[in-house]
Order: sequence, then structure tokens, then C-alpha cells
Amino acid sequence: MLARFYRSEDELLRLHRGLKQTACPACKATGTLNLHGWLYGYGEHDEQRKSRRGRRVFCNNRKRRRNGCGRTFSVWAVDKLKRMRLSAGALGSFLAFVFTLGDKAAAWRAAGSDLSVSCAYRLWTRFLHAQSRLRAALVRLYPSPPERSHAGGPAEQTLAHLRAAFPHDPCLVSAFQHRLRAAFL
Ligand SMILES: [Zn+2]
Repeated sequence: MLARFYRSEDELLRLHRGLKQTACPACKATGTLNLHGWLYGYGEHDEQRKSRRGRRVFCNNRKRRRNGCGRTFSVWAVDKLKRMRLSAGALGSFLAFVFTLGDKAAAWRAAGSDLSVSCAYRLWTRFLHAQSRLRAALVRLYPSPPERSHAGGPAEQTLAHLRAAFPHDPCLVSAFQHRLRAAFL
């Protein structure tokens, strides 16, 4: 199965080496996948320069034999968030600080992001909307979420579930993306 996230350059190199034996996610052909350029985007701390955020994988449809389907797939660096400048680590810290500090603006400052506070409120709304999808994915990996605490709302439950599923990972958001092969937001 084609990985959708990688954690390091080494892991990307292994993914590259294994591509010829990996089936295309769309047409299921093997021996047709190739690396096909980088995905670029603006990073959290640099508005001027685009940085590498992932790679494209192409299913070659220009072969004479054993032709592929011509589709491309994105494989993302696990510490990046799709279509967002914010890093996965900064989002993970922000969410954790919301629960300890109880205030989104303060949590945003504590997480050390250069982006505006309005960004924090938008992110929080996106996180709330993602609850059911996140929980459904987490249940596959960690079927028994922690007991509901007396004051905890659904968002707090989701965070507790993430912590239970990834007790040793420094970043819950990266861990989610890597282990569940799905974008966090
Ligand atoms: Zn294909």
C-alpha cells in the first residue's frame, strides 16, 4: 500500500525504493509508480520562501506494456498540514494548550506561532468539525477511548483519545497522520 505520509528523508528514500513493488492506489497496477516532483508551500515561519512539503507520485500511463492510469498521488511530510502554513507540531501544542490554559488566544501565544490569532479561532472551528472523523479513525487503532471525564466536552474527549492512542509520541497530530495514514485536518 502506498504510504501517504513520511517522517524522515530516510523513510522517503525507502518509499522511493519500494515504489516498483507498490500497487497503485487507483488502478492497482504494480511497477507503474514513479516519484514525480515535490509539493511546495509556504512554511510557518517564512512568508518569503516556499519549502518542500511532500512529494508527488505518478502512475505512469506512457508505458508500452503494463501501463498505469496516469493519476498522481500526494505523499506528505508528516509534520506538515495540508494546505496550511502551520506545522503539525504547532497545531498539536496549540490543542494541548487550549485544554491546559482554557483560552484559545493564550494557547496560540503559548504554542509560539507567528500567525495571527484569527488563525487560531479558524483552526479551532476546523478541529471541532473534524471530531467525528478523528474519533472514527482513532477507534480503529485504539478501540476503547478513555472514560469520559465529568467536565469534558467532545473536543476534550478527542484529545484524551489521541493521548491514549499515542502515549509516546511528542506530537499527537504527526502521530495521527503517520499511523492512520490520514490528514488530521
Ligand atoms: Zn494507477
